[in-house]
Amino acid sequence: QCITHCPVGALRERDDTEKVFEALEDPEKIVVVQIAPAVRTAWGEELGLKPEFATVKRLAAALRRLGFDYIFDTNFSADLTIMEEGSEFLERLKHKDTEKFPMFTSCCPGWVRYVKGHYPEFTDQLSTAKSPQQMFGAVAKSYYAKILGVDPSKIFSVSIMPCIAKKHECAIPVMNDAGGGQDVDVALTTREVVRMIRSSTIVPMSLKEEELDMPLGVGSGAGVIFGATGGVMEAALRSAYYLVTGQNPDPDAFRSVRGMEGWKEAEFDLAGSTIKVAVVSGLGNAGRLLKSLRQGKVSYDFVEVMACPGGCAGGGGQPIHDGYEMAEERVDILYGLDRVNNLRFSHENPSVIKCYEDYLGAPLSEKAHHLLHTDHHAWKMPEEK
Ligand code: SF4
Repeated sequence: QCITHCPVGALRERDDTEKVFEALEDPEKIVVVQIAPAVRTAWGEELGLKPEFATVKRLAAALRRLGFDYIFDTNFSADLTIMEEGSEFLERLKHKDTEKFPMFTSCCPGWVRYVKGHYPEFTDQLSTAKSPQQMFGAVAKSYYAKILGVDPSKIFSVSIMPCIAKKHECAIPVMNDAGGGQDVDVALTTREVVRMIRSSTIVPMSLKEEELDMPLGVGSGAGVIFGATGGVMEAALRSAYYLVTGQNPDPDAFRSVRGMEGWKEAEFDLAGSTIKVAVVSGLGNAGRLLKSLRQGKVSYDFVEVMACPGGCAGGGGQPIHDGYEMAEERVDILYGLDRVNNLRFSHENPSVIKCYEDYLGAPLSEKAHHLLHTDHHAWKMPEEK
């Protein structure tokens, strides 16, 4: 945030909007865009739109006016992440004597870089599941390219993220598993998309809501809460419970991981086994947790870490309001969207089910491993200057 507050304007915020405008003007390119969960809580703030008006469907209408060919939802791939990460966690639990615990979530690139750089001994405990942004890019350039009957290289894949670290993540050299160049070609922040809308003739107040495109425009309430601290853990536990017992829990059964505290702990019964979890947001808290783990002062089975306090709702790519932090209000919006969603479980997302049936096979299949998982040792941290 200091970049945007540089008093003399010597530091400029990175801006990738030109690359996207160029792709939108290229008749050879099919430009697909994914909208991250937390973006829908914030895109209207700088445009003077009330939260109840600045919906994801109205953002879809604006993006269509800008020329995007297909408007999709990162909530779809958040659900896919849960299928993969939840299955991986259950698989690791089966080998509790040989596996190291806790397993850590891996969807926040700020956290992944932090642990690799400062506590590398924990790197193998990161889930190998890619983040929803990267899973989406890989699926867009493989499964969706197949649906369209085009070569993956024809697809230009854009993400709209609440996050600056996502720009680094999509450029990691190994994030190109679908064979069409980078799986995500450009990651835009919420602020950049607002700038794109402002620089056009679009009048957001005049837009009617429009549906997202199918099939990658469907997401569950479990997917939408990825944007809040505790949301990934809660979504994973909802589906892990189903995968173990064959029955859905009460969707709010794991609500004790909600809330803005920086380090939360909870225990749940999963088919007779007690699972101890922690949810941490903010890298200061992550450092304290890792130190305590290293010293044997605490122990957990599963830990969610988000680099930004409050999770992606308070991400570094979101609109900035001098002296006022909006993360908590945005988190409340996300839980409200989960509450009213007809789908509350990632494993019930019909587009995810169809993607497995028609293309990926099953969670942790060979194809799923190739497209949706990564080796955290396959890329090196940039050298310190
Ligand atoms: Fe990005 Fe912050 Fe979300 Fe991590 S918590 S993915 S750094 S916005």
